[in-house]
Amino acid sequence: MDRAVLIRGARILDGTGAPWFPGDVRIEGARIAAVGPRLDAAGAEVVEAGGRYLAPGFIDAHAHDDLIYLRQPGRPEKVAQGVTTVVVGNCSFGLYPQRPASEAPLREHFGNLLGTVAAGETFADFAAYRAALDGRGIAINLVSLVGHAALRLAVMGWQNRAATADEREAMAALLAEQFRQGAHGLSLGLVYPPSAWADRAELVGLAEVVAEHGALLTAHVRSYEGGLIASVDEFIALLKAGGSSGLLSHLQAAGRPYWGSLPRAVERLEIARRDGVDVSFDMYPYPAGSSTILQLLPPSALSGGVGALLARMATPVGLAALRRAVEEGVAPDDAGWESKIRLIGWENVRIGGAGEDALRPLEGLSLAEIADIRGQAPFETLAWLIAADQGQTNIVMFQLSETDLDTALSHPLHMLGSDGLPRETGKPHPRAYGAFPRYLARALRGEGGLGLEDAVRHMTAVPAQRFGLADRGLVRPGMVADLTLFTADVSDRATFQDPTQPPHGITEVLVAGRFVLRGGEHTGARPGRTLARA
Ligand SMILES: [Zn+2]
Repeated sequence: MDRAVLIRGARILDGTGAPWFPGDVRIEGARIAAVGPRLDAAGAEVVEAGGRYLAPGFIDAHAHDDLIYLRQPGRPEKVAQGVTTVVVGNCSFGLYPQRPASEAPLREHFGNLLGTVAAGETFADFAAYRAALDGRGIAINLVSLVGHAALRLAVMGWQNRAATADEREAMAALLAEQFRQGAHGLSLGLVYPPSAWADRAELVGLAEVVAEHGALLTAHVRSYEGGLIASVDEFIALLKAGGSSGLLSHLQAAGRPYWGSLPRAVERLEIARRDGVDVSFDMYPYPAGSSTILQLLPPSALSGGVGALLARMATPVGLAALRRAVEEGVAPDDAGWESKIRLIGWENVRIGGAGEDALRPLEGLSLAEIADIRGQAPFETLAWLIAADQGQTNIVMFQLSETDLDTALSHPLHMLGSDGLPRETGKPHPRAYGAFPRYLARALRGEGGLGLEDAVRHMTAVPAQRFGLADRGLVRPGMVADLTLFTADVSDRATFQDPTQPPHGITEVLVAGRFVLRGGEHTGARPGRTLARA
């Protein structure tokens, strides 16, 4: 007989949103064999749950763990949160596919978001990335989207222009190849160059390839500020034209002037669904966002890549143009772009992680504070920082309203995604270390308009369905035994001041029937897999 585990006396949250019920779960091999009262313990290793909650393992529907999976395959801060599957490749950022000539631009592109990418950490295709991960052995499962940027860099490099028909065809062929190998979808990043430079013909062409393969189209849309509603509409129109299902990334209304527009954005999605468009969204449970420092610049600033940007910044004319964009919002080559700094202020942008050791003492400080220390104007500080580590600084932006956040997090179309930006050092946004226990804790406290059962559903069955993970996301016989046990006083401890603190109350995590967390300690086991699309 297969190795068996019996979890006895748990409050079972089955993932459907149904009220928890007391019972046992018997696991045989990699799968759940039985769920019910007083199950047979014969031949099984018994875990006394003692009234703790048992839920399907959490699925992080939106993450940027592509690189950290290679470097820390045990994925300790995800395991500590009860996460058993992570979706990577979001917002157009990924580590494949590449052609020989696109290796350098791809490493530069990903490095701008997550720090230096070494040689050998980017891949020709999904199959090569998957082989690298499964060869190392990973603690928890991974689902991978193809980043639009990788396609565009492979075919066109850092060119800020529309693709030709031949180039569109080459991108479509490259994308189709990734889908045949098992990638789950395509992610767009419509504010991030080079994805931002695609015209409608390119986007519709790629969306059609997504639909042909039954894959998923996700999008960091063009604007989460004044252009939010138009951007939601643009994504819906793209889904209609291409015919695929869609996931709108981290739905939010950023900047005080636009607070309160979240309900209207959600209404657009509801209307689209009544119209037959399959669209939903993800969001993290914090009122601050995080990104690359380059997001403070208009997309055209990256024309030609970071090297070209730095060369232009070294000239008085180039620097003055950027200053006018950032300080005054004037960016003639970037229709519809809005200056984040004008919207939220220098004091609300904090350094999360620096790309150079010399800049590390600045982590945790705002751009306004750093400018004060340096005795210069904030824009000069921004320009200095970008030049100092070639745009690899990570920033945290305080920009959302709690009311809008509650609207998003409690909506039936929502699923939880951390959007964490993991680096090995720094003071990153705490969502990488606390998003899942934080979301549970607010439900257990009765906050945010969502009960515990629904909160768990948004972290399990909903994303499992969205990504086509047919045998995960539910506590039910026959399902893969990806499970998480947690206490009623579960809570996050990661804060913006101290962001890497592990949570409290997640005690056991199993992946395919094997413990990766036992008594709150990582076991070192690596039963995870890179999941290929069925
Ligand atoms: Zn994003």
